[in-house]
Amino acid sequence: MTSRPIVERQYRDPHHYPEGIAFQDGQYLPVSEAKISVLDWGFLHSDATYDTVHVWDGAFFRLDRHLERFWGSLERLRMSIPYDPAQVTEILHNCVALSGHRNAYVEMLCTRGTSPSFSRDPRDAVNRFMAFAVPFGSVANAEQLARGLHIAVSDVVRIPPSSVDPAIKNYHWLDLVRGLFDAYDQGAETALVVDSQGNVAEGPGFNVFLVKDGSLATPADGVLAGITRQSVFEICEELGLACAPRALPRAELAGADELFITSTAGGIMPVTRINDRPVNAGAVGPVTRRIKDLYWAKHSDPAWSSPVDYSL
Ligand SMILES: *Cc1c(COP(=O)(O)O)cnc(C)c1O
Repeated sequence: MTSRPIVERQYRDPHHYPEGIAFQDGQYLPVSEAKISVLDWGFLHSDATYDTVHVWDGAFFRLDRHLERFWGSLERLRMSIPYDPAQVTEILHNCVALSGHRNAYVEMLCTRGTSPSFSRDPRDAVNRFMAFAVPFGSVANAEQLARGLHIAVSDVVRIPPSSVDPAIKNYHWLDLVRGLFDAYDQGAETALVVDSQGNVAEGPGFNVFLVKDGSLATPADGVLAGITRQSVFEICEELGLACAPRALPRAELAGADELFITSTAGGIMPVTRINDRPVNAGAVGPVTRRIKDLYWAKHSDPAWSSPVDYSL
């Protein structure tokens, strides 16, 4: 027996896969039916880029910023897609509306694709665009958000910017996954990796901030310019808090008053233990709380959000 009958049964039962809608080749389909070829460079060589935006309470958050970053990534990788930003906006809105999700994790991606002759020249490949909307996911679960994450700074070095441009959001995660396993081995829940100078870089899909004496700092170089990171800069300005991107030696983290991580998948997430020692008193700090509260308040500000039209 092949697995085919099982697969077909799953398609009929929406509870057997994360409910969501994908867009591929001009069509909308259940996310479980979206596929790429095993010969796609995106799969075989991680030759792909993507961007993730979230929908909260029925509205996209900072979609314009995510589209801008996605187009920047496409350009740097010399990829092109047959849609302009307005068309991708429409596709993403349709995925969310068709999924019915009020809180969603929405991804647009482009792989290098395949070439008809399986040529080794990336210029022969036909780039492939896909998008999907699934239920909102977070780096930290509800318990971790309430009490703060337990994180470990791994000795794993993030691939240098001279090798892979960190400004391109990518699936090149072997260093980050290695960092995660290292963190689990140390009894932590997630990881930070370092750069070749021993400064803190970032974690699997998130940036990191430190609070000391009322001022904030975050690694300046060798990290993805997170949209949530950018939102923290703007929120700090609004709250009158000093916040500067700079080199962050790993030893500084141990003396932090507060630590938090930032991602579209979860927002502003407190960290209360680092390498199995409490951060300050080990409780979620007041600066983290203020920034987190304003971040979520911004989700109903029309300057930062755009409602999904569910009336399809
Ligand atoms: C996506 C991502 C982040 C966070 O970026 P946001 O735009 O805030 O979601 C940070 N680091 C890496 C490596 C990422 O892929």
